[in-house]
Amino acid sequence: MDLNEKKENDEAVSRNFIEQIIEKDLSEGSYDTICTRFPPEPNGYLHIGHAKSILLNYGLAQKYHGKFNMRFDDTNPTKEDTEFVESIKADVKWLGADWEDRLFFASNYFDQMYEGAIKLIKKGKAYVCDLTPDEIREYRGTLTEPGKESPYRNRSIEENLELFDNMKNGMYEDGAKVLRAKIDMASPNINMRDPIIYRVAHMTHHNAGDKWCIYPMYDFAHPIEDAIEGVTHSICTLEFEDHRPLYDWVVRELEYEKPPKQIEFAKLYLTNVVTGKRYIKKLVQDGIVDGWDDPRLVSIAALRRRGFTPESIKMFVDLCGVSKANSSVDYAMLEYCIREDLKLKKPRMMAVLDPIKLVIDNWPEDQVEYLDVANNLENEELGYRKVPFCKELYIDREDFMEEPPKKYFRLFPGNEVRLMHAYFVKCESYIKDETGKVTEVHCTYDPATKCGSGFSERKVKGTIHWVPAPYAVKAEIRLYENIIDEEKGVYNEDGSLNLNPDSLKILKDCYVEPSFDNAQAYDSYQFVRQGFFCVDAKDSKPDALVFNRIVSLKSSFRLP
Ligand code: ATP
Ligand code: MG
Repeated sequence: MDLNEKKENDEAVSRNFIEQIIEKDLSEGSYDTICTRFPPEPNGYLHIGHAKSILLNYGLAQKYHGKFNMRFDDTNPTKEDTEFVESIKADVKWLGADWEDRLFFASNYFDQMYEGAIKLIKKGKAYVCDLTPDEIREYRGTLTEPGKESPYRNRSIEENLELFDNMKNGMYEDGAKVLRAKIDMASPNINMRDPIIYRVAHMTHHNAGDKWCIYPMYDFAHPIEDAIEGVTHSICTLEFEDHRPLYDWVVRELEYEKPPKQIEFAKLYLTNVVTGKRYIKKLVQDGIVDGWDDPRLVSIAALRRRGFTPESIKMFVDLCGVSKANSSVDYAMLEYCIREDLKLKKPRMMAVLDPIKLVIDNWPEDQVEYLDVANNLENEELGYRKVPFCKELYIDREDFMEEPPKKYFRLFPGNEVRLMHAYFVKCESYIKDETGKVTEVHCTYDPATKCGSGFSERKVKGTIHWVPAPYAVKAEIRLYENIIDEEKGVYNEDGSLNLNPDSLKILKDCYVEPSFDNAQAYDSYQFVRQGFFCVDAKDSKPDALVFNRIVSLKSSFRLP
């Protein structure tokens, strides 16, 4: 089944469960129009899992003609970093998710959150508690036993208002007092056992400065952020499922009109691939990778640098689907998507990764013939280019063998092959250096065998690619493998990562066609027989090209 058939097939299948919820809400008038959001915490770079969340939220807003908000969840004063804010904005934009003029920071809502807390206190739904963190944990109970009520639970509204005011005015040390929602210490859901909603923390906030020394907890802040922005469907990952009753409690008690609703879906995991920020941060800090955008990582910046496109990532998350059950997807599926995306869009060029010189003995010394070469035989729109053909060429070392095994159809003494887009050549002799390494292959060509001339008496079984030696452009090519040693699994017993020592292979003496002259950062190409390659945005220079291999051509992957 090819991709188009698969798409048609999928459209015939029922819509995903989130779309079903939205359609029901719209048809019943629960909401007139929808609004979704992407709420990253600015504490690291985004990865492929976040891409799923971004494209899901943005895609739903588009599909139902609603809005998509971008909101930094920066209520926690410890972690924010402007480097991360900027990288996240760039990544979301690159993926094509457009927040228009709706870029928000949760820390701008601290006033409303504070007012929300006051409202709860006034309703008798929140109280200041003096138990220590250890005591709070102890009183909370377990999954099998109910919790115990705090002795401070029944303070009067006036006393609570005064104590909370004191908290805000910096009269207590960190941890001395907290504000708790007054819900139910016997609830089977531990999240509902009088959760903490505000804590004292004498810290400077990157945006709010020193205005506050009390900060809201995530479970209290998040529903308020959604409600303030008019978000209707607050989509998050499965680990928040048990927090949903608290989310609903907050928006109900604060009496929002048309309150938002939380919907959970399963995180995207890639088998044997590191996605957790914590691990990536460590790889960066330990200098094992070249920053957050090292092409071996699956951060969005890394995928972009490696040569993945927004289209390929969208295709990938679409193929993964949306589900309530955790599962893990093979990296090969991501590779499949980039091959599908690039195969008709990109020119097919010749590049020699491990060069060996080929000399055509019967070609006149200074003669150059400019061959017309189609950029992509499957896509005429990409046009033609001229490739000079001359006496000295480079071919790939693996395309010549002194003593070939059976079924080796490339060059060996006495054998004839086609030089791609050019002529048949027959190997007459070869030269070795003192170490026994072959340094030159000598051939003769047959003028009657020009490719595309419509005339060919003989057939040959092998076609090999080449570049013209005097015109070729030298390049560095980087080949990547998984940074994890897949044989051993992702983690060692001590929790460290099982690294693959061969995850990066650098080939310094490669040659590409002269038409690469003006290759720009992020340009990508197919190198015939080798794979798809992309100009490295960090290290490539006009006079010293560096290419990343995005993906090889072959795969055993089949659409699920
Ligand atoms: P990580 O644990 O990988 O560092 P995170 O969940 O801490 O990620 P946030 O910045 O809190 O990162 O996440 C922003 C949004 O992205 C949240 O809505 C979260 O649910 C979603 N998200 C995070 N990881 C994934 C994933 N693997 N698949 C789908 N969505 C994800
Ligand atoms: Mg998080």
